Amino acid sequence: MAGGQREGQASAALRIVIPEGAGAVLRNVAAVLARQISERCDAKVVLTGDAPVTVELAVEPGIGAEGFHITDGPKSTVRIVGNDEPGVLYGVGKFLRTSLYGRRGFTPGTWRGTLVPKCPFRAIYFATHFNNFYEAAPAEELKHYVEELALWGYNTILIHFPTWQFDSLSDPEARDWLGRFKALLAHAKQHGLRVGLLQAPNQGYKTPPADLRGVKVPGGRRGNFGVNLCASKPEAKELLIRMYDELLDEFKDVGLDYFELWPYDEGGCDCEQCRPWGARGFVGISRELAGLARAKFNGCKIILSTWCFENEDDANPDGEWVGLANALNEDKSWADYIMADGHDDYFPKYVLERGVPGDLPLVNFPEISMFGMTPWGGYGTNPMPAHFQMLWDRIKHQAAGGAPYSEGIYEDLNKAICAQFYWSPGRQAEDTVKEYLAYEFSPDRAEDLLEAVRIFEKNHRRDQISADATRAFDIVTSVETKLSEQVRRSWRWRIFYLRALIDKEMYEREGELTGEALKQAFQELTRIYHAENSHSMPIKPPQVE
Ligand SMILES: [Zn+2]
Repeated sequence: MAGGQREGQASAALRIVIPEGAGAVLRNVAAVLARQISERCDAKVVLTGDAPVTVELAVEPGIGAEGFHITDGPKSTVRIVGNDEPGVLYGVGKFLRTSLYGRRGFTPGTWRGTLVPKCPFRAIYFATHFNNFYEAAPAEELKHYVEELALWGYNTILIHFPTWQFDSLSDPEARDWLGRFKALLAHAKQHGLRVGLLQAPNQGYKTPPADLRGVKVPGGRRGNFGVNLCASKPEAKELLIRMYDELLDEFKDVGLDYFELWPYDEGGCDCEQCRPWGARGFVGISRELAGLARAKFNGCKIILSTWCFENEDDANPDGEWVGLANALNEDKSWADYIMADGHDDYFPKYVLERGVPGDLPLVNFPEISMFGMTPWGGYGTNPMPAHFQMLWDRIKHQAAGGAPYSEGIYEDLNKAICAQFYWSPGRQAEDTVKEYLAYEFSPDRAEDLLEAVRIFEKNHRRDQISADATRAFDIVTSVETKLSEQVRRSWRWRIFYLRALIDKEMYEREGELTGEALKQAFQELTRIYHAENSHSMPIKPPQVE
């Protein structure tokens, strides 16, 4: 894939061919390919007529679910063949990442071979709240972003309807929210992806009846906006079932492939009847709502999260893991996956030592957004390949996939790393980082930029920025002079560049957030994230007076 020497073979035009009578998904995948090439160089992309290079998209079953192969066809034709329509999309991703974009046009990648994903559940979870990027970005920009994530191998978009932000389903703000995100999910489906909803099953709207509210679960990590209901009170349970009956109906036209039940942060009730929530109250209401979702959506899979279940550091372990395992051993017919993970470096010991409750397939929930930095994303890109490699190595032999937790676009590199873990569990994070840097920035300078990424990770914590921040900035400024105009202007480059600049400034100022350079850098990040009106904490970059 080494760059410069092959730019001589670059083409000023490229033709995309799809089979006659191809369905909407394949036509949309062709449009994704065309847009990516047009955004990266000046080559003209056509669907008919002559061009020096032809890319043919096709579906031929037999490769393996969602897999693809890329082969040479006759006369300067590259064939991207998917086992199914999503497979074509992932093949297009690989083809795009191994191609070159130069001043003279487009040079098709020479990578040939077959790839089939290992994990079936390769989701990204958009935390759709706090007026973050997902709530604030223009709809078109968000749709394009979904396409770009799919090119790395994601096959599912998960979102959360934040009941606590609204009065009811008829609240105008709820209607706006539903309009925006139903359109987004529909867009994902039109590109061959799956979609799902993730909900804390006992969480009410803004002002639930006072007498139906639950008891706050002790402990600092379990979240409580004061709107959780007690799922053991018959009236509260009825209300919750009615709420979800209506909410799920909102997604009837989109069609949900996954429904995920979430225990804490938000969620939970610690009354006599619900305790321990994860093994009793949560199980009861989740089973009810799982049945509701399956009845409404054919083939809908149920994911049971264990987020913030007790761990061995809790002063009063209340038997949640054992209790859930017992409940599922009696009947697990209503659940398809268990999701488990923890904050920071923690992964639930119960799962590592005793296995997954109910012996269900395990999916993880890597925290790629908030780790070790506030405000989240406030300093530009936050790549942590070594951190995620360490986390993944503990469970890669048994995971069936996962869903990274995302608050925005600043963790784009971490998303690519996780997508490729799910696709190919043995792939090294740094290998993915190099492919990302070559594709998004420069194939010739990917090694140099990798050194900058290693420095970013070493300097991740804001009180530990060391002198090599200057070295990273030198690398980035030196690479910038060689980049195409398209790359220099792209948001991915800007958040990479700004991270190097901010770290250098913070090192020189011994952590003080002062001066014109930092002020402008934070303002630019705010614009890129559309964070002007987001909650100042935790989403909005620091503001320098
Ligand atoms: Zn209760």
